Amino acid sequence: MQHHNDTKEIDTMKIAFIGLGNMGGPMALNLHKAGHTVSAFDLSQPARDKLAADGVPVAADAKAAVQGAEVVISMLPASQHVDSLFLGQGELLAQLPAGTLVIDCSTIAAATSRKVAEAAKARGVDFIDAPVSGGTGGAIAGTLTFMVGGEVATLERARPLLEKMGANIFHAGAVGAGQTAKICNNMLLGILMAGTSEAIALGVANGLDPKVLSEIMRRSSGGNWALEKYNPMPGVMETAPASKGYAGGFGTDLMLKDLGLAQENAAAVKASTPLGGLARNLYAAHSIAGHGALDFSSIIKMVQKG
Ligand code: NAD
Repeated sequence: MQHHNDTKEIDTMKIAFIGLGNMGGPMALNLHKAGHTVSAFDLSQPARDKLAADGVPVAADAKAAVQGAEVVISMLPASQHVDSLFLGQGELLAQLPAGTLVIDCSTIAAATSRKVAEAAKARGVDFIDAPVSGGTGGAIAGTLTFMVGGEVATLERARPLLEKMGANIFHAGAVGAGQTAKICNNMLLGILMAGTSEAIALGVANGLDPKVLSEIMRRSSGGNWALEKYNPMPGVMETAPASKGYAGGFGTDLMLKDLGLAQENAAAVKASTPLGGLARNLYAAHSIAGHGALDFSSIIKMVQKG
């Protein structure tokens, strides 16, 4: 009964959602569809228009979006955007009354999460870092994995909302720990996408059908998330970005950012991450070649014939 009341209470909550890109757009829409009062904002007019067309109320700027909001969720590209929104030019934190809950779902440096969390705490605002995994497919389906850093009580406050956007919610540790878990995961993802691309390209160069080869590897010891859900070869998986000209999805430059965060972190703790370093360089070269805005699975272009 208690749980029912809690759920009901949060259902009436007002949420400001900042950052309506490939991930934030569908996440905000899922909260709206679940019956929450969402006020959404993005700097990009097309991103705002898309949400408005889906029936989600859109605000004129971030300050207007947070008026009366009990929860603020951000889904921005990188550290500098989060820093600037909450502490810098945006000064959004100064707009929030004590007791507001801030959930930052962006993948950023753990140090930036801690900096924003400190400033939030000084104002009596609760903060968790809650980066996600699962791709745009997971964001649309509401099946994301959340990796949360922060106090347990704050996570529990956020949980009913996270459950509307995700299927798996993990508490990784104190503020910043969600980010650390996320960059470990994405370092592995960058490596396995590059490796999967190499293997498919090798088979195709030998005349194998990429669909047949992908299915063989998916069911064998090389099976992985790229082969399950995100095949890098056009035409193998209808729903994957590869079959849509590598549009949407997870941008090469965002993967490059995450691999950079992993290397900075490795340097700080003197960890050995040779494959992570190589992967960062591969994605950097791919970005320099002009593919930064394409989905990261386009890394296969580096190793494909023709
Ligand atoms: P995106 O580039 O599609 O969207 C980011 C949006 O933020 C853009 O629409 C941009 O206009 C907006 N924005 C930037 N600064 C802003 C500000 N100050 N105020 C309001 N809006 C602002 O990126 P995405 O793919 O949605 O990724 C967002 C975050 O999630 C990144 O940190 C990324 O690494 C991470 N992530 C992405 C995926 C994926 O598959 N795309 C998966 C997991 C995590």
